[in-house]
This record gives sequence, structure tokens and C-alpha cells, in this order.
Amino acid sequence: MKYERIRNFINGRFETIQSDRILTITSPGDGTPLAELPCSTAADLDKAVKAAKAAFPGWSKTPIKERVQVFYKYKFLLEKNLPELAALCSEENGKTMSEAVAELEKCIELTEFACSLPQLVTGETLEVSKGIECRTEHVPLGVVASIVPFNFPAMVPNWTIPNAIALGNCMIMKPSEKVPLSVGRLAALLKEAGLPDGVLNVVQGDAEIVNAICDHPGIEAVSFVGSTKIAKHVYQRATQQLKRCLALGGAKNHLLVLPDARPDMTAQNITASMSGCAGQRCMAASAMVGVGEIDHIVEKICQEARKIVAGKDLGAVINKESKQRIERYITEAEQQGAKILVDGRHTVVAGKEEGTYVGPTVIDYVKPDMAVAREEIFGPVISIMRTNTLDEAIAIENNNPYGNAASVFTQNGGAARYVIERASAGMIGVNVGVPVPREPFSFGGWNESKFGVGDITGKSSIEFWTRLKKSTIKWNPEAGVNWMS
Ligand code: NAD
Repeated sequence: MKYERIRNFINGRFETIQSDRILTITSPGDGTPLAELPCSTAADLDKAVKAAKAAFPGWSKTPIKERVQVFYKYKFLLEKNLPELAALCSEENGKTMSEAVAELEKCIELTEFACSLPQLVTGETLEVSKGIECRTEHVPLGVVASIVPFNFPAMVPNWTIPNAIALGNCMIMKPSEKVPLSVGRLAALLKEAGLPDGVLNVVQGDAEIVNAICDHPGIEAVSFVGSTKIAKHVYQRATQQLKRCLALGGAKNHLLVLPDARPDMTAQNITASMSGCAGQRCMAASAMVGVGEIDHIVEKICQEARKIVAGKDLGAVINKESKQRIERYITEAEQQGAKILVDGRHTVVAGKEEGTYVGPTVIDYVKPDMAVAREEIFGPVISIMRTNTLDEAIAIENNNPYGNAASVFTQNGGAARYVIERASAGMIGVNVGVPVPREPFSFGGWNESKFGVGDITGKSSIEFWTRLKKSTIKWNPEAGVNWMS
């Protein structure tokens, strides 16, 4: 193994995990065995919750301006260690080095937002009647948990760690069992930045730990990012235990292309969106609906897709099962009459024969009822449908159960606005293939792409990670008493 056995990070120390269940982590890029991961048990989680609980009184009472000093230092350490962190992220996830660098740059932006929280969480005061004041303050919840997926080993953990902790909470982080390495490095950097012991605890493992988090009485709130099936499960299980929960799920993002769209820009954006991170982004373009005559744009998308070299411009998908699943979707669409214009099946990269690559795939003449049109594929595949009118295209988007993102490509402002108003998705793009709102705007979808209220990042995260305390104060005891006081 290239790295030592994965350990938990509890109360500021890396700890050996005792377990009979041991997973092997291999690099999707070339099959190199990276590390062994013993799966933690509920007892390990309990130890982490106890450490977090013990740290909470001190951390929550530390003024926020002092708390964010840790994150200023953490940002500096992310910058200083960026090449090494990006290499680890690329190695365990399979994404290209330039995608991993972009991921780490996004971690820095997320941390910058957390550093700005003292400016955003000031409460309000008002003299509500003579001599009587009402004031509000955002108070941390206590011990909170964050459960994350495999596709962004560093970024998604940084959606929650900086904000939740800067706001005064203590956290249990449960990384994906497919990519356990990056989070360990982030925890070590936070310790180096001065985060007190017990404020962040990392418990490595799989579904057993997720369920134990939902059930643990010492955990106040759970955030989850992953597939819709598990998001629903976590939302139901955690809220049944009366916890606050925000669970982000999967996606099927539609791009509506009008005939007046700029051909080069549209084709480049769509190809980059569907193939970036090997299509393993919850914001990836997955279904394209062409309105009217768009053959010239489809032709350019195919040209762009053919330029992409697997193993160089395109990373691997996470594992063999994933590669097989994606290729099954393509084959089924072909059998049902769709036309495979660019075929990424059976892609092998010379010298990396054990890597799990799927080349960019363009499928045309897809019907809305085919699985490739309806389901999340999570690979570098775009399914193209055709309609005669914009309303028909919007109906296809609206009928999909997901609602993470939707984009429209057009030069007509009125048509763009028409789509913004009617698309049933939380994040909309106009001439943008990956419409991720950057900080301070918040990230979160609609429908089956998110369960719970509010969004996970940006200003919206303040509501999730804190509760509001309302005080009514009579500063002057001589003030008269009336029905309102
Ligand atoms: P996943 O749902 O399989 O796993 C996510 C987490 O759930 C992991 O930590 C895993 O250990 C845990 N888990 C898996 N199976 C479980 C079970 N049966 N019971 C309890 N816990 C379980 O997701 P993934 O494959 O790691 O990630 C890909 C998915 O995440 C895609 O669907 C993608 O769209 C989604 N995603 C969504 C967003 C978003 O913002 N909406 C962002 C990133 C990824």
C-alpha cells in the first residue's frame, strides 16, 4: 500500500480503527493500491461525539472574530500545500490534476467566505416599546455531523467544515469510504492552524456510521451530500430522531439549446460540463434538449468531445462498477434506437490499463422516456432530445423528478428569462454549462435533489448551522408596565 492504514481523527489525534471489516482503496486512475480502510463502528462514533461535546462549551464561547482566525491560517495552509493536496485528491478520486487544483481553489474560496461570517451574523435590536428592547443572536447548535460523497474529496467537506465550525459548532465529519485520504489531510491542517482538539473529529467508515450518526442522541444536526436514495434515507432517519437535517441528493441537469445560441461557445460549454470530472458532478450537463434546428451545434459538440483525450484531459470514473453501469446505460439507449455519435465505451488508457475510464459519449435522438433521459448516469455522457417548441423543452425539464440545475443557451434575453421563470431547478444557467453559484450565493437544488429547508453554503448556511435566540429586555426598571411588556 502506498499510504499507511486510514485512521480516525478524534480529539486532535489520529487513532487506529479496530475493525474486522477492511476495505482496500485503489486509485481509479491506474489501479494503484493506496490504503486499507478499517470501517469504524458506533463505538468509535460515540467516542468522537464525546470529544466534540467536551470541546463545545469552550469553542462556542470563543468570540466569532477569534474563531475565524483559525480559518485565516487554514486558508494560508491550503494555499501553501495546494500542489500536494491536489495530487492526493486526484490520486484517490481519479480526476485530472487541473480539476483537482480547481477543487482546492474552491476550498480556499469557501474558507474565505467563512472568514467573512463575523460581518454577516450580527443580530438585530429594536426598541419595541418605551424602554423595552428586543434583540436576536445566532447561537451554535452543539455537536453537528456532515456526511459527504466521493466526487469532491476536498471541496464538499469544505462546504460544511469552515461555516459550521466558524459559527461555533463542533463537528463529526464522515468522509466517503471511496475517498478517505483527503479529509485526513484537511483535519491535520486545521490542527496546524490552531483548531482546538475535539472541535473537528473525522470518523471513517461506511453506511454503519451514517446510520449511527442519524441515531446518536448527542448530535443536533446532520448535513448530507450524496445520491437521492441515501439522501432520503438520511433525511427520514435523522428527522425521525428530531434532528435538524439538510440532505442534498443526485441530479439530472437539463440544458435547453435554442437555434440562435452561439455555436462555438455553446458546444464548448456543454462538452466541458458533461465531461468535466468525468461527468461525476452533481452539476454536470446530462440531458440536452434542442429546440428546432440545432444540428450545427450537435456537430460541434461531437467535434469538441472527440478532441478530449482520456487519461490526459479526462479523468477516470470512480471504480469498475461505475464504468460498467455507465456503459450499460449507453448500450441500452443504443438498443432502444438512440444514435451514439461519439462512443466512450471500452476506453483504455495506455500504461494505465487498470484505470477505469469512460470516454466522452454523445447520444442523439434520445426519447424522453428512455433511462438515459430520465436517470442520473454520473459519467461523461450527454443525451440529446429534440423538440419543436421551447414549451415542449421546458415540459421535459419540468417532468424530471430531480431539480439541481438547468441551463439555457440563447442570445435572446426574453427567451432566457422565460426559462428562468419556468425551469424547476434550484440553480439556473444562462449560457453557462455549470451554473454553480459562487460565494456568497448559496448552493442547493430543488425537488428530489434536496430534502430540507435552505441551502448548504453561503449566507443560507447560517440559518442551518445556528438557531436564533430572541431576548426582550427592560433596561430601565422604572419604565411603565403595559400589555406589551
Ligand atoms: P452515495 O449516496 O452512495 O454516498 C454518500 C454517502 O452516503 C457516503 O458517505 C456513504 O458512505 C453513505 N452511504 C452510502 N450508502 C449508504 C447506505 N445504504 N446507508 C447509509 N449511508 C450510505 O453517493 P456517492 O456515490 O458517494 O456520490 C455520488 C452522488 O452524490 C451522486 O448522486 C451525486 O449527484 C451526488 N452529489 C450531490 C451533490 C449535491 O450538491 N446535490 C453534490 C455532490 C454529489
